[in-house]
Amino acid sequence: MRSFTFYERVSRAFNDYPSLSKFLVVFTVSGGGLVAYAEANSTNGAPAIASSESENVKKKVVVLGTGWAGTSFLKNLKNPTYDVQVISPRNYFAFTPLLPSVTCGTVEPRSIVEPIRNIVRKKHSDVQYCEAECYKIDAENKKIYCRSTQNGKEEFVVDFDYLIISVGARVNTFNTPGVEEHCHFLKEVEDAQRIRRTVIDCFERASLPNVSEEERKRILHFAIVGGGPTGVEFAAVLHDFVKEDLVTLYPRVKDQVKITLLEAGDHILNMFDKRITTFAEDKFRRDGIDVKTGSMVVKVSEKEISTKEVKNGQISAMPYGMAVWSTGIGTRPIIVDFMKQIGQANRRVLATDEWLRVEGCDSIYALGDCATINQRKVMEDISAIFSKADADNSGTLTVKEFREVIDDICERYPQVELYLKKKQMSDIFYLLKESKGDDTKESIELNIEEFKSALSQVDSQMKNLPATAQVASQQGVYLANCFNRMEECEKNPEGPLRFRGTGRHRFRPFRYKHLGQFAPLGGEQTAAQLPGDWVSIGQSSQWLWYSVYTSKQVSWRNRVLVVTDWTRRFIFGRDSSRI
Ligand code: FAD
Ligand code: MG
Repeated sequence: MRSFTFYERVSRAFNDYPSLSKFLVVFTVSGGGLVAYAEANSTNGAPAIASSESENVKKKVVVLGTGWAGTSFLKNLKNPTYDVQVISPRNYFAFTPLLPSVTCGTVEPRSIVEPIRNIVRKKHSDVQYCEAECYKIDAENKKIYCRSTQNGKEEFVVDFDYLIISVGARVNTFNTPGVEEHCHFLKEVEDAQRIRRTVIDCFERASLPNVSEEERKRILHFAIVGGGPTGVEFAAVLHDFVKEDLVTLYPRVKDQVKITLLEAGDHILNMFDKRITTFAEDKFRRDGIDVKTGSMVVKVSEKEISTKEVKNGQISAMPYGMAVWSTGIGTRPIIVDFMKQIGQANRRVLATDEWLRVEGCDSIYALGDCATINQRKVMEDISAIFSKADADNSGTLTVKEFREVIDDICERYPQVELYLKKKQMSDIFYLLKESKGDDTKESIELNIEEFKSALSQVDSQMKNLPATAQVASQQGVYLANCFNRMEECEKNPEGPLRFRGTGRHRFRPFRYKHLGQFAPLGGEQTAAQLPGDWVSIGQSSQWLWYSVYTSKQVSWRNRVLVVTDWTRRFIFGRDSSRI
């Protein structure tokens, strides 16, 4: 038997005892600073279930995609009674929030990816990975059709008992002519690497001796389309790269560099608090980034971008050297095809219920960017709610009767709680009183029409969840916990009352918990919007950003690599080699 070296022992300890390594590295790297942002991807305390004795045949679970949703599902699945097959053309997980940092070499691409085989190796259950893409889902026969990405020819079929669709979304060009051919996207690691090479290409080309002044200006004009978080962050990191590193390396061309950010809406970062939007626009103006709001890109050619002013319809063209398109996401063709098959052709996004089950397909789940939860309206079920609440079948509802079911109503229809909060109603009694006008608390009694009118406005509070990593990873954790406790909840359902049927739902519906969002603005300044509309802008938020993004990495290897990259950048600057 061979003896282990010290390095091998330490490396083993890191892999086998993640909590020990977590403690060690947090202590070493941060001196305590990161402790406050300890691993948020933990198991939510869900107990792992031992293998069921009665179940000899394992149920086949197929997971499509190794992005935020799929990986978070895999990491949290603890029940060994499933035979899990992962299928994805990408054999790694990519930490997308750091992709903009990869475009300028602040962080190296390999630091933000984790091989999926590393993740599944640590599972104590049956998990297999196949590098392939699924091109067709046959919901009726419970089969998926896949194609290897190795040579694009080898095809195979996989059966499933449960299918987890987490294939994410594609870039949306809104069919704008020329975008596909001439613009860069920022969606995958390869995109970020391509952008990094192109930025350096532009600087090298502009530095050639026989390039005219006009041509040099064109080559060094970087246009970014889309003023959302990704476009804004890319503009900020590019500006930092130019200002902190490239101007000293390319002193002859530094005055010709221009960055333009084009946004069709009135403001950039319009999903953020107004204070952040204003700060970002002012900062960009001070930095010399040209922010053109109300400007819609209508065509892109090899050297020019044509825009239309939203206010007056005026069309103009501007020469550019590199363009990055970051305007939103669209549905992948495989999902469009699947939606047609299951009668969702008239929808824009694949719809699931609040338990993440694809509507009309009991054993197929969809999560992350490829799907949206179709929250059921209270008004659709109002008669069923009324009759279930009317325990004594009197045809009227008392406050006491309503109180008996209010928790189930709030759980099944979260918009009710949001409405009560918005109206600052501390008690549901006030909701009933509004339609009745009666002021003695317990004497209120409503008939069905009065009940309908009392709840008529609550559905106005329904909102779709954003397409973010935060939502996707929480959905992955939620679904894994449902799978972990499938048998247990089958026997003892823990969900809310079934208003339209009998008994209770098996599980509690998925509930998103917003933990806040960041907008890095360059120059070590970040805007943070935390729950409760708490806004913080500046250097302290930048440190919060460093801490949170370190803690959110999927592995300790990534954490160490990312922190090392940041440190390297602080000491030596970014690398401008065109590799
Ligand atoms: P993805 O993470 O896109 O994963 C999809 C997976 O499916 C991939 O592995 C893909 O290879 C695979 N796949 C695709 N087609 C098939 C197929 N046919 N068969 C099988 N597998 C397939 N969100 C935040 O919350 N905070 C941020 O700071 C943030 N920053 C971002 C920055 C950038 C540059 C980008 C692009 C996104 C950012 N997001 C952020 C959004 C976040 O990345 C997405 O919301 C998240 O990736 C969605 O997760 P997902 O699992 O649904 O899809
Ligand atoms: Mg009654």
